[in-house]
Amino acid sequence: MNPYDTPMPGARFLECAATGDTVESEQLAGLSAAGKPLLARYDLEAVRHSLTPAAVAGRAPTLWRYQEVLPVRDPACRVSLGEGFTPLVNSPRLARRLGLGRLWIKDEGQNPTGSFKDRGLCMAVSRALELGATELAIPSAGNAAGSAAAYGAAAGMPVHVVVPFDTPLPILAEIRALGADLQLLDGLISDCGAVVRQRCERDGWWDLSTLKEPYRVEGKKTMGYELFEQLGGRLPDAIVYPTGGGTGLIGMWKAFEEMEALGWIGTGRPRMFAVQSTGCAPMVRAWEEGRDAAPTWENAETYAAGLRVPGAVGDFLILRALRESGGGAVAVPDHAMQEWVEVMGAATGIFAAPEGGATAAAVPRLREMGLIGAGDEVVLFNTGSGLKYVGMEPLD
Ligand SMILES: *Cc1c(COP(=O)(O)O)cnc(C)c1O
Repeated sequence: MNPYDTPMPGARFLECAATGDTVESEQLAGLSAAGKPLLARYDLEAVRHSLTPAAVAGRAPTLWRYQEVLPVRDPACRVSLGEGFTPLVNSPRLARRLGLGRLWIKDEGQNPTGSFKDRGLCMAVSRALELGATELAIPSAGNAAGSAAAYGAAAGMPVHVVVPFDTPLPILAEIRALGADLQLLDGLISDCGAVVRQRCERDGWWDLSTLKEPYRVEGKKTMGYELFEQLGGRLPDAIVYPTGGGTGLIGMWKAFEEMEALGWIGTGRPRMFAVQSTGCAPMVRAWEEGRDAAPTWENAETYAAGLRVPGAVGDFLILRALRESGGGAVAVPDHAMQEWVEVMGAATGIFAAPEGGATAAAVPRLREMGLIGAGDEVVLFNTGSGLKYVGMEPLD
């Protein structure tokens, strides 16, 4: 008999997202033997009775409310700054402006460091602590480094971050203030990733690159559970998501699969839409060309730091979710992101990151393409606060 009144939390095993090969979950794990992301699999049958919408409704408003489908076993290792359960803001005036009946903004700018990267890094740092990592490292386009610095500090673990030199200044100030070791690089997140990889091999640092360890996606998937709860027990028709590495999109898609196995939802799914910048749109190009994987984007350029991701290790998972959901992908220029940050701000009171503006900018385009209709209930993801981009200008 287990001593807990709920079944033991934690994954049963990890599974290669490409080959289905399984790996033991109770030791630090990076990519699978095939070099692809590993995903955590749970005993959903065993937690069906404790993880019900009614049971969850009474729990504290952080992402830890979904503990049965999260990987951290020891409550003492759950590092928390109050992440998750961000507001889903009803936005009727923006809805009218976009010609939609019902529109919501999931305001991820209200996470502890002002972006939804907190969800993933909270989980990855907690799990690294639990499994005995001692020093953490992360390449980032910006916000992920701020989150890693915050959760590393909260956990009492040293963090090394490598970011492009033109990362927004508020984010650099944050990283420094949170005590992380900061290295600036003349390059993109992919170049930062190469530096981190070397140091991890040489110095035993633990690499927190997204989808190169299994747990950031577990933190981000909680957005899918929250949408269901906050909409009163249903999912929207369409989700518009600003996509860099795609961790949140892949995570929500995984959450929906789990929620079906738990009996929360049926086989229906929201249509998933990925938004990128015209200056860096590898997923949009791959989507338009009908590919299963996305070749690297050369000369990536956009002021939306979170979208400046020329190649994603989870590319095939993003494209699969877009296809299976009946969704799609669209690119918008930087200046349109800025315009829509202002329209969104004036219509809702939310000061969005450029990535959040991008989701609103995408809607007229998706409507023209016939992919979103006037009657659809739509959720836009504002993935970060505009305050983290003060001083940044559109690049086109
Ligand atoms: C990282 C980031 C994104 C992209 O997120 P993925 O889940 O990696 O695609 C979007 N917006 C902001 C503000 C980000 O920091």
